[in-house]
Amino acid sequence: MSTRAQQYDAEVLRRERLSDHLVRLVLGGPGLSGFASTGIPDEWVGLVVPGQFQSRYYTVRSWTGSELTLDVVVHDVGLVTEWAARDVVGDTVTISEPKGSFAMPEDAAWLMLVGDLTALPAMARIAEEVDVPTRIWAEVPEQPPAYVPERADVTWLTPPGAGRSLLAEAVESIDWPDGSGYFWMAGESAQMRAIRKHLMRERRLPSTAYDVMGYWRGVAQRQPRAVDPGPIYRAGKAAGKSDEQIWADYDNAREADV
Ligand SMILES: Cc1cc2nc3c(=O)[nH]c(=O)nc-3n(C[C@H](O)[C@H](O)[C@H](O)COP(=O)(O)OP(=O)(O)OC[C@H]3O[C@@H](n4cnc5c(N)ncnc54)[C@H](O)[C@@H]3O)c2cc1C
Repeated sequence: MSTRAQQYDAEVLRRERLSDHLVRLVLGGPGLSGFASTGIPDEWVGLVVPGQFQSRYYTVRSWTGSELTLDVVVHDVGLVTEWAARDVVGDTVTISEPKGSFAMPEDAAWLMLVGDLTALPAMARIAEEVDVPTRIWAEVPEQPPAYVPERADVTWLTPPGAGRSLLAEAVESIDWPDGSGYFWMAGESAQMRAIRKHLMRERRLPSTAYDVMGYWRGVAQRQPRAVDPGPIYRAGKAAGKSDEQIWADYDNAREADV
C-alpha cells in the first residue's frame, strides 16, 4: 500500500479581492472529486502553485463538496503571494489532504481566538462552526467587510508595521473568563513561542486547553519552510504526542534549521 500523501489537482475558478491584503481563491474541477473535509474548523491544506514545487499552507475557509475556498494574504514577497496577486483564474494548482488541529474540550464554556490576518480565515470559520461564546482578537491591517460572524465579540488590533506583530503583548494583558474554556491562536512564529511560554508558565494551562500555531516567520533573509512539517507531524503522531507538542517540535526544528 502506498504511504504517499494524497494530492489533488484543482483549477482556480474564481478570484476575488476581499480587502487590500486578502484575496479569495475558489478552486474546483474534477481533480477535487475525492477531496473530503476533516470537519475540523481550522483545517488546512498544502498549496503548490504553477511553476513551484514547494508548498505553503492555507486554511480551508469553506468546502461545499465541489468548491474549495482559500483566503490568501498578499504580503510583500513570496511564492504564493506573488502568484495570487495576479489574475490566476484558470491556473491549475495542487493541494494536499486537509489536516486540522483545533480540539476544544467538550466542557469548554468559552472560546478565545487570537491571530493576525493569516489566521483570520481560520478564526472566522471556527466562530461560524463552534457554538460557545467566542471572543476574537484580530491584528489586521484592515477589516475585510462582514468576514467574521456578528455573534463573535471582536477586538480589532492594528499591526505595528508590515511583517511585524505584537500579539504576544496583547495576550498577556487579556482578562481571562472564569471557568474552563479553550484558547486558540495563530500567527507569526516568534509571537507564538512567547505565548506558549506565557500559557505554560504564567497561566499554567494544561495543554488540552490551548492550541498555538506559528503560521509564518517574520524574519527577513531567513528561508521559511526549510523544514517540512509533514514528517514532524507523522513522527509526533506515531510517538503519541499532542498537536501542541508537535507544533512546538516544528518550531524548534525550524529554529535549529536556520
Ligand atoms: C496551518 C497553517 C494555516 C495557514 N493558513 C493561512 C491562510 O488561510 N491564509 C494565509 O494567507 N496564510 C495562511 N498561512 C500562512 C502562510 O502559509 C504563510 O504566510 C506563507 O509563508 C505564505 O507563503 P508565501 O509563498 O506567500 O511567502 P513565503 O515565500 O513563504 O515567504 C516570503 C517572505 O514573506 C514573509 N512572510 C510570509 N508570510 C507573511 C505574512 N503573512 N506577512 C508578512 N510577511 C510574510 C516571510 O517571512 C518571507 O520573508 C497558514 C500557515 C499555516 C502553517
